[in-house]
Amino acid sequence: MSAASTVPQVEFAAVTKSYGTGRVVLDAIALTIQKGEFVSIIGPSGCGKSTVLKLISGLTPPTNGTIRIDGMTPRDARETISFIFQDATLLPWRTVRDNVGLGLELERAGSNRRKKTTAALLELVRLQDVAEAYPRELSGGMKMRASIARALATNPRLLLMDEPFAALDEMTRDRMNEELLRLRAEQKWTGVFVTHSVAEAVFLSTRIVVLSPHPGRIHASFQVDLPFPRTALLRELPEFEALVARASHVLREALGQ
Ligand code: ADP
Ligand code: MG
Repeated sequence: MSAASTVPQVEFAAVTKSYGTGRVVLDAIALTIQKGEFVSIIGPSGCGKSTVLKLISGLTPPTNGTIRIDGMTPRDARETISFIFQDATLLPWRTVRDNVGLGLELERAGSNRRKKTTAALLELVRLQDVAEAYPRELSGGMKMRASIARALATNPRLLLMDEPFAALDEMTRDRMNEELLRLRAEQKWTGVFVTHSVAEAVFLSTRIVVLSPHPGRIHASFQVDLPFPRTALLRELPEFEALVARASHVLREALGQ
């Protein structure tokens, strides 16, 4: 392994965040995420989960402490990061294909590369048959798949996801979880995922970080030692149930319950 590849994908050292003159939202966060990890952040509403993602992506600066993304400042690392939000935020006047190609257009990729990448991604997320449809014609799950394809089009090394599947029904969410792992196996990005669902966090992650509130601190961090590839069947295994129970327990602990 070369020296460069041992640089963590994400490194927070003593990171504190307040918005303006408001109270401390995140306090002395130390967090290292290695390349290839899939880390879920769980914790009660308002504990600062979205703020962690915003700090990583450079959308907001830390009040104190340092953040390095693959050895760079978040600002310099910007082009290596993609962000997926809960609402798919597709442009209603663009077809699915043109929505997926948006990031590449913004990067001024040549039209050949754009066409090829977009077609491959539409196939990867199984939307090739609705490529010329408009977002309003899609189901919630399809919209989210288009949004994922758009995020992956720029070939990110780091994928940030803020409760991307929270608005979907449970069956669709489960399927999206399986698809996301399939994409990860093919594309090798590092993932940081925020969710309210403990089961979703266990299913997807190599590690779970639990935040406690007021101010947001890291309460616990633990490995999810379930083998990959993970399929729908995993949810029925006792090892899976046991990890969900354990994570739920740690989460209650973080809430002081
Ligand atoms: P979570 O995602 O865990 O629900 P957030 O990171 O969204 O938590 O928010 C953490 C705290 O920071 C909340 O108290 C929220 O009100 C506050 N906050 C978030 N964004 C802003 C902002 N832009 N300006 C002021 N306060 C904010
Ligand atoms: Mg949030």
